[in-house]
Amino acid sequence: MTTHLLQSDHEGDAFRPPDRAALLGKRVPVLDKGWVELQDLMGDDLAIVNAARVSFLGESKGSQKDKRLLFYLMEHRHTSPFEQVEFKFRVRAPVVTWWQWVRHRTWQFNAQSGRYVAFEEDDFYVPVAWRRQSPSNKQASLGELTPDAGEPLTQALLDHYERSYQLYRQALAAGVAREQARLFLPGFAVYYTWVAKVDAHNLMHFLSLRMAEDAQYEIRVYARTIYEHFFKPALPWTAEAFETFILARLTQ
Ligand SMILES: Cc1cc2nc3c(=O)[nH]c(=O)nc-3n(C[C@H](O)[C@H](O)[C@H](O)COP(=O)(O)OP(=O)(O)OC[C@H]3O[C@@H](n4cnc5c(N)ncnc54)[C@H](O)[C@@H]3O)c2cc1C
Repeated sequence: MTTHLLQSDHEGDAFRPPDRAALLGKRVPVLDKGWVELQDLMGDDLAIVNAARVSFLGESKGSQKDKRLLFYLMEHRHTSPFEQVEFKFRVRAPVVTWWQWVRHRTWQFNAQSGRYVAFEEDDFYVPVAWRRQSPSNKQASLGELTPDAGEPLTQALLDHYERSYQLYRQALAAGVAREQARLFLPGFAVYYTWVAKVDAHNLMHFLSLRMAEDAQYEIRVYARTIYEHFFKPALPWTAEAFETFILARLTQ
Protein backbone atom coordinates (compact mmCIF):
# COMPACT_ATOMS: atom_id res chain seq x y z
CA MET A 1 0.00 0.00 0.00
CA THR A 2 1.32 3.44 -0.84
CA THR A 3 0.69 6.43 1.34
CA HIS A 4 -0.16 9.61 -0.51
CA LEU A 5 2.43 12.34 0.12
CA LEU A 6 1.04 15.78 0.83
CA GLN A 7 1.84 18.08 -2.03
CA SER A 8 2.32 21.05 0.27
CA ASP A 9 3.80 20.36 3.66
CA HIS A 10 4.19 23.97 4.66
CA GLU A 11 2.73 26.52 7.04
CA GLY A 12 -0.41 26.86 4.92
CA ASP A 13 -1.32 23.38 6.16
CA ALA A 14 -1.56 24.53 9.77
CA PHE A 15 -4.67 23.31 11.52
CA ARG A 16 -7.45 25.89 11.30
CA PRO A 17 -10.42 25.41 13.63
CA PRO A 18 -13.78 26.29 12.05
CA ASP A 19 -14.87 29.93 12.47
CA ARG A 20 -18.00 28.98 14.39
CA ALA A 21 -19.17 32.58 14.79
CA ALA A 22 -19.23 32.94 11.00
CA LEU A 23 -20.67 29.50 10.24
CA LEU A 24 -23.37 28.90 12.84
CA GLY A 25 -26.61 30.55 11.83
CA LYS A 26 -25.29 31.39 8.35
CA ARG A 27 -28.08 30.98 5.80
CA VAL A 28 -27.32 30.52 2.09
CA PRO A 29 -30.13 30.92 -0.48
CA VAL A 30 -30.76 27.99 -2.86
CA LEU A 31 -33.22 27.80 -5.80
CA ASP A 32 -35.91 30.50 -5.84
CA LYS A 33 -37.17 30.29 -2.26
CA GLY A 34 -34.99 27.72 -0.50
CA TRP A 35 -31.97 27.97 1.75
CA VAL A 36 -29.51 26.00 3.84
CA GLU A 37 -28.55 27.14 7.33
CA LEU A 38 -25.97 25.53 9.62
CA GLN A 39 -27.52 25.08 13.05
CA ASP A 40 -24.81 23.14 14.82
CA LEU A 41 -21.38 21.68 14.24
CA MET A 42 -19.57 19.17 16.41
CA GLY A 43 -15.85 18.59 15.84
CA ASP A 44 -13.20 19.66 13.36
CA ASP A 45 -10.29 18.18 11.39
CA LEU A 46 -8.35 17.63 14.59
CA ALA A 47 -11.23 15.68 16.16
CA ILE A 48 -10.92 13.21 13.26
CA VAL A 49 -7.17 12.85 13.75
CA ASN A 50 -7.50 12.48 17.52
CA ALA A 51 -10.23 9.86 17.11
CA ALA A 52 -7.89 7.83 14.89
CA ARG A 53 -5.01 8.21 17.34
CA VAL A 54 -7.06 6.89 20.25
CA SER A 55 -6.16 3.45 18.84
CA PHE A 56 -2.86 3.88 20.67
CA LEU A 57 -4.08 6.48 23.19
CA GLY A 58 -2.26 9.30 21.39
CA GLU A 59 -3.36 12.76 20.27
CA SER A 60 -2.20 15.56 17.95
CA LYS A 61 1.45 15.42 16.81
CA GLY A 62 1.54 18.81 15.10
CA SER A 63 -0.16 20.02 11.93
CA GLN A 64 2.09 18.35 9.39
CA LYS A 65 1.78 14.84 10.84
CA ASP A 66 -1.86 15.35 11.72
CA LYS A 67 -2.80 16.34 8.19
CA ARG A 68 -0.77 13.48 6.74
CA LEU A 69 -2.62 11.03 8.99
CA LEU A 70 -5.99 12.46 7.92
CA PHE A 71 -5.03 12.01 4.26
CA TYR A 72 -3.98 8.43 5.03
CA LEU A 73 -7.36 7.74 6.63
CA MET A 74 -9.21 9.07 3.60
CA GLU A 75 -7.01 7.27 1.07
CA HIS A 76 -7.32 3.91 2.82
CA ARG A 77 -11.04 4.24 3.63
CA HIS A 78 -10.46 4.24 7.39
CA THR A 79 -13.83 5.94 7.61
CA SER A 80 -15.03 5.77 11.21
CA PRO A 81 -12.93 8.71 12.55
CA PHE A 82 -14.84 10.94 10.11
CA GLU A 83 -18.05 9.95 11.88
CA GLN A 84 -16.82 11.89 14.95
CA VAL A 85 -17.77 15.18 13.27
CA GLU A 86 -21.44 16.11 12.95
CA PHE A 87 -23.34 18.79 11.06
CA LYS A 88 -26.91 19.89 11.77
CA PHE A 89 -28.63 21.87 9.04
CA ARG A 90 -31.98 23.58 8.75
CA VAL A 91 -33.01 23.37 5.12
CA ARG A 92 -35.87 24.76 3.06
CA ALA A 93 -36.31 22.77 -0.13
CA PRO A 94 -39.13 21.63 -2.42
CA VAL A 95 -40.49 18.09 -2.18
CA VAL A 96 -38.80 17.23 -5.50
CA THR A 97 -35.51 17.66 -3.59
CA TRP A 98 -36.60 15.98 -0.34
CA TRP A 99 -37.94 13.01 -2.28
CA GLN A 100 -34.34 12.11 -3.10
CA TRP A 101 -32.60 13.46 0.00
CA VAL A 102 -34.57 11.28 2.45
CA ARG A 103 -33.33 8.15 0.68
CA HIS A 104 -30.07 8.74 2.54
CA ARG A 105 -30.82 6.65 5.62
CA THR A 106 -27.74 7.71 7.53
CA TRP A 107 -29.15 11.22 8.04
CA GLN A 108 -31.52 12.08 10.89
CA PHE A 109 -34.46 14.26 9.90
CA ASN A 110 -37.29 16.22 11.45
CA ALA A 111 -39.80 17.92 9.17
CA GLN A 112 -42.25 20.77 9.13
CA SER A 113 -45.75 19.36 9.14
CA GLY A 114 -48.52 20.42 6.80
CA ARG A 115 -50.87 19.09 9.49
CA TYR A 116 -49.82 21.87 11.88
CA VAL A 117 -48.96 24.77 9.61
CA ALA A 118 -51.00 26.02 6.65
CA PHE A 119 -49.07 26.63 3.43
CA GLU A 120 -48.50 30.11 2.05
CA GLU A 121 -49.23 31.20 -1.48
CA ASP A 122 -45.57 31.44 -2.48
CA ASP A 123 -44.50 28.11 -0.99
CA PHE A 124 -44.03 26.58 -4.45
CA TYR A 125 -40.88 26.13 -6.51
CA VAL A 126 -40.67 27.89 -9.86
CA PRO A 127 -37.66 26.82 -11.99
CA VAL A 128 -35.72 29.50 -13.85
CA ALA A 129 -35.35 27.27 -16.92
CA TRP A 130 -37.00 24.16 -18.38
CA ARG A 131 -34.58 21.33 -19.03
CA ARG A 132 -34.98 18.93 -21.95
CA GLN A 133 -35.33 15.18 -21.46
CA SER A 134 -32.05 13.41 -22.23
CA PRO A 135 -32.45 11.13 -25.27
CA SER A 136 -29.94 8.58 -23.93
CA ASN A 137 -30.43 8.58 -20.14
CA LYS A 138 -33.99 7.97 -18.97
CA GLN A 139 -33.24 9.60 -15.59
CA ALA A 140 -31.49 12.71 -16.84
CA SER A 141 -31.98 16.04 -18.56
CA LEU A 142 -29.82 17.53 -21.28
CA GLY A 143 -29.84 21.17 -22.34
CA GLU A 144 -32.71 23.62 -21.94
CA LEU A 145 -35.73 24.90 -23.82
CA THR A 146 -35.25 28.38 -25.27
CA PRO A 147 -36.64 31.22 -23.12
CA ASP A 148 -39.38 31.75 -25.75
CA ALA A 149 -40.48 28.11 -25.52
CA GLY A 150 -40.16 28.07 -21.74
CA GLU A 151 -42.06 31.25 -20.93
CA PRO A 152 -45.60 29.88 -21.65
CA LEU A 153 -44.79 26.80 -19.55
CA THR A 154 -43.71 28.98 -16.64
CA GLN A 155 -46.93 30.98 -16.95
CA ALA A 156 -48.94 27.74 -17.06
CA LEU A 157 -47.14 26.53 -13.95
CA LEU A 158 -47.90 29.78 -12.09
CA ASP A 159 -51.57 29.50 -13.12
CA HIS A 160 -51.59 25.90 -11.93
CA TYR A 161 -50.09 26.91 -8.55
CA GLU A 162 -52.60 29.71 -8.13
CA ARG A 163 -55.53 27.40 -8.93
CA SER A 164 -54.18 24.70 -6.59
CA TYR A 165 -53.72 27.18 -3.79
CA GLN A 166 -57.25 28.55 -4.27
CA LEU A 167 -58.65 25.01 -4.00
CA TYR A 168 -56.54 24.41 -0.88
CA ARG A 169 -57.86 27.61 0.76
CA GLN A 170 -61.39 26.69 -0.34
CA ALA A 171 -61.12 23.31 1.36
CA LEU A 172 -59.73 24.89 4.56
CA ALA A 173 -62.55 27.43 4.52
CA ALA A 174 -65.05 24.57 4.19
CA GLY A 175 -63.64 23.12 7.40
CA VAL A 176 -61.49 20.37 5.87
CA ALA A 177 -58.49 19.43 8.05
CA ARG A 178 -55.09 20.79 6.97
CA GLU A 179 -53.81 17.21 6.70
CA GLN A 180 -56.33 16.49 3.95
CA ALA A 181 -56.73 19.91 2.33
CA ARG A 182 -53.09 19.68 1.22
CA LEU A 183 -54.14 17.07 -1.36
CA PHE A 184 -54.97 20.08 -3.52
CA LEU A 185 -51.40 21.43 -3.43
CA PRO A 186 -48.89 20.83 -6.26
CA GLY A 187 -47.02 18.05 -4.41
CA PHE A 188 -43.52 18.02 -5.87
CA ALA A 189 -43.30 21.82 -5.89
CA VAL A 190 -44.18 22.51 -2.24
CA TYR A 191 -41.38 23.91 -0.09
CA TYR A 192 -40.82 22.23 3.26
CA THR A 193 -38.40 23.12 6.06
CA TRP A 194 -36.52 20.26 7.68
CA VAL A 195 -33.81 19.86 10.27
CA ALA A 196 -31.23 17.38 8.99
CA LYS A 197 -28.25 16.00 10.92
CA VAL A 198 -25.42 13.85 9.57
CA ASP A 199 -21.83 12.91 10.37
CA ALA A 200 -18.96 13.92 8.09
CA HIS A 201 -18.40 10.43 6.67
CA ASN A 202 -22.00 10.00 5.55
CA LEU A 203 -22.16 13.62 4.41
CA MET A 204 -19.23 12.92 2.07
CA HIS A 205 -21.10 9.88 0.73
CA PHE A 206 -24.17 12.08 0.10
CA LEU A 207 -22.03 14.79 -1.52
CA SER A 208 -20.23 12.37 -3.81
CA LEU A 209 -23.59 11.10 -5.10
CA ARG A 210 -25.55 14.34 -5.13
CA MET A 211 -22.90 16.79 -6.41
CA ALA A 212 -22.31 14.47 -9.36
CA GLU A 213 -23.35 15.50 -12.85
CA ASP A 214 -25.97 12.75 -13.05
CA ALA A 215 -27.76 13.96 -9.89
CA GLN A 216 -30.89 16.03 -10.46
CA TYR A 217 -30.22 19.78 -10.53
CA GLU A 218 -32.71 20.45 -7.71
CA ILE A 219 -30.66 18.37 -5.25
CA ARG A 220 -27.26 19.09 -6.78
CA VAL A 221 -27.52 22.79 -5.90
CA TYR A 222 -28.23 21.91 -2.24
CA ALA A 223 -25.30 19.47 -2.10
CA ARG A 224 -22.99 22.00 -3.73
CA THR A 225 -24.11 24.71 -1.28
CA ILE A 226 -23.46 22.47 1.71
CA TYR A 227 -20.03 21.57 0.38
CA GLU A 228 -18.83 25.05 -0.57
CA HIS A 229 -20.37 27.11 2.20
CA PHE A 230 -20.22 24.75 5.19
CA PHE A 231 -18.18 21.57 4.69
CA LYS A 232 -15.06 23.18 3.21
CA PRO A 233 -14.78 26.01 5.73
CA ALA A 234 -15.52 23.65 8.64
CA LEU A 235 -13.15 20.84 7.57
CA PRO A 236 -10.49 22.23 5.19
CA TRP A 237 -8.10 19.25 5.50
CA THR A 238 -10.92 16.75 5.08
CA ALA A 239 -12.29 18.63 2.06
CA GLU A 240 -8.84 18.60 0.43
CA ALA A 241 -8.45 14.86 1.06
CA PHE A 242 -12.03 14.23 -0.14
CA GLU A 243 -11.30 16.03 -3.41
CA THR A 244 -7.98 14.19 -3.81
CA PHE A 245 -9.13 10.63 -3.10
CA ILE A 246 -12.88 10.50 -3.63
CA LEU A 247 -14.09 13.19 -6.02
CA ALA A 248 -11.04 12.94 -8.30
CA ARG A 249 -11.54 9.17 -8.69
CA LEU A 250 -15.24 9.58 -9.44
CA THR A 251 -14.50 11.96 -12.29
CA GLN A 252 -11.63 9.87 -13.79
C1 LIG B 1 -28.25 9.41 -9.64
C2 LIG B 1 -29.14 8.62 -8.72
C3 LIG B 1 -30.25 7.97 -9.23
C4 LIG B 1 -31.08 7.24 -8.37
N1 LIG B 1 -32.18 6.60 -8.89
C5 LIG B 1 -32.99 5.88 -8.06
C6 LIG B 1 -34.16 5.23 -8.56
O1 LIG B 1 -34.45 5.28 -9.74
N2 LIG B 1 -34.96 4.55 -7.69
C7 LIG B 1 -34.65 4.47 -6.36
O2 LIG B 1 -35.38 3.81 -5.61
N3 LIG B 1 -33.55 5.07 -5.85
C8 LIG B 1 -32.72 5.78 -6.66
N4 LIG B 1 -31.62 6.42 -6.15
C9 LIG B 1 -31.39 6.33 -4.70
C10 LIG B 1 -30.27 5.33 -4.36
O3 LIG B 1 -30.65 4.01 -4.70
C11 LIG B 1 -29.97 5.39 -2.84
O4 LIG B 1 -31.13 5.01 -2.12
C12 LIG B 1 -29.58 6.77 -2.38
O5 LIG B 1 -28.62 7.35 -3.24
C13 LIG B 1 -28.99 6.67 -0.97
O6 LIG B 1 -27.73 6.04 -1.09
P1 LIG B 1 -27.19 5.10 0.05
O7 LIG B 1 -28.14 3.99 0.34
O8 LIG B 1 -25.81 4.68 -0.35
O9 LIG B 1 -27.08 6.15 1.27
P2 LIG B 1 -27.45 5.95 2.81
O10 LIG B 1 -28.84 5.49 2.97
O11 LIG B 1 -27.05 7.24 3.49
O12 LIG B 1 -26.50 4.83 3.29
C14 LIG B 1 -25.08 5.00 3.28
C15 LIG B 1 -24.45 3.64 3.23
O13 LIG B 1 -24.76 2.96 4.44
C16 LIG B 1 -25.02 1.58 4.15
N5 LIG B 1 -26.40 1.28 4.57
C17 LIG B 1 -27.34 2.16 5.00
N6 LIG B 1 -28.46 1.50 5.34
C18 LIG B 1 -28.21 0.19 5.11
C19 LIG B 1 -28.98 -0.98 5.24
N7 LIG B 1 -30.23 -0.97 5.71
N8 LIG B 1 -28.42 -2.15 4.88
C20 LIG B 1 -27.17 -2.21 4.40
N9 LIG B 1 -26.37 -1.13 4.25
C21 LIG B 1 -26.90 0.04 4.60
C22 LIG B 1 -24.78 1.37 2.67
O14 LIG B 1 -23.44 0.99 2.47
C23 LIG B 1 -24.98 2.75 2.10
O15 LIG B 1 -24.26 2.97 0.89
C24 LIG B 1 -30.78 7.14 -6.98
C25 LIG B 1 -29.65 7.81 -6.49
C26 LIG B 1 -28.84 8.55 -7.34
C27 LIG B 1 -27.63 9.26 -6.76
